[in-house]
Amino acid sequence: MFPCEQCGCCCRMVSKVSFARYLALDDGTCKYLDKETNLCKIYDERPDFCRVDEFYENVVSKYMALEKFYELNKKACKKFQAEIRGYTMDEKIWITYKTEVNGLPQELRFSKGAVEKIFKPFLIKLSELREMTDRKVVAFIAAPPGTGKSSVAQFLEHFSREHMEFTPIRALGMDGFHYPSEYLKANSIVKDDQEILLNDIKGAPETFDVDTLQEKLREVRQEGTDWNIYDRMIHDVVHDVLSVDDDIILLEGNYLLLKEPRWTNIRVLADYTVFIKARPELLKERLIARKIQGGLSPEDAEKFYYASDGKNVERVLNNSAPANETWMLQPDDDYFKIEDDEDVVLDNIDLNMEGEIPFEDIR
Ligand code: SF4
Ligand code: SF4
Repeated sequence: MFPCEQCGCCCRMVSKVSFARYLALDDGTCKYLDKETNLCKIYDERPDFCRVDEFYENVVSKYMALEKFYELNKKACKKFQAEIRGYTMDEKIWITYKTEVNGLPQELRFSKGAVEKIFKPFLIKLSELREMTDRKVVAFIAAPPGTGKSSVAQFLEHFSREHMEFTPIRALGMDGFHYPSEYLKANSIVKDDQEILLNDIKGAPETFDVDTLQEKLREVRQEGTDWNIYDRMIHDVVHDVLSVDDDIILLEGNYLLLKEPRWTNIRVLADYTVFIKARPELLKERLIARKIQGGLSPEDAEKFYYASDGKNVERVLNNSAPANETWMLQPDDDYFKIEDDEDVVLDNIDLNMEGEIPFEDIR
């Protein structure tokens, strides 16, 4: 299968391709590209030339070896990527950082592009906000499960502390704001005429003590506070464990921007917000793989996904308020930024490519 990164760069440059130009809007982007999600709005019915492998099978295989066809496609991809995002698939540089996630040593890997174009500007933004106010700054990273938000937050904390140009940030999670196990086992909600024990849906928005989270966030913005944690040894929350007195707090969690009762009280306590989007199929793949890695059989991992994670993914993706910044997770674990006007950031454009790309370079 052709190693498409789903960067969407080709879809943003259809005006440069003679046979695809009929799809182009005034800015050169395909009219079927959803700029918010970077996904094709007609994916199942997209034209033949948008399907590399099928196009090869049905049209090109008579004339050309697959290897050659892939090589030509990659060449075109690299031109589009250089123009749109400033670096190509081959130039993507991965950097590994050693840190801790949820108390365990971890090696985190991010692309240089994400660090330079997303993470550093984000840390600069937070440092500037801190300078503009006489209280502490609170930022949120909200995202559905499986988007790597804990790793990103840990990395940002680590990185901000290593580089003098940023005000050091403190990364926090909201796992410590589940209701205690005892409460979850004794209380239920009614949904579709069915009574559901909170303990059976642990991790869903209803299982969080949003009032306490709200109170702690208020305290953290002023003098600081002692933060709750989730202890994975006892599988329960422990109150007031982490002393938090930092100038910039970065809170990550699934539901921080949820447009639902109780959760909307949380959003107003953030000075700056980020939302990480991803294609639902990509999250499904990642979350099932995570469960298999944790010891479940593939069948049980899939069952768990549909019963739990999948519902939360859907709820967060479909019902979160807009953030100040939106980042998009890619299949290769890279991120890119979608701007406020829902267009991809076009800084660092390499203007080498002018005029049309010849057809033979695209096939
Ligand atoms: S430019 Fe290439 S890698 Fe990016 S979406 Fe198009 S085909 Fe895939
Ligand atoms: S039809 Fe879909 S896949 Fe093809 S260029 Fe447009 S957005 Fe991209």
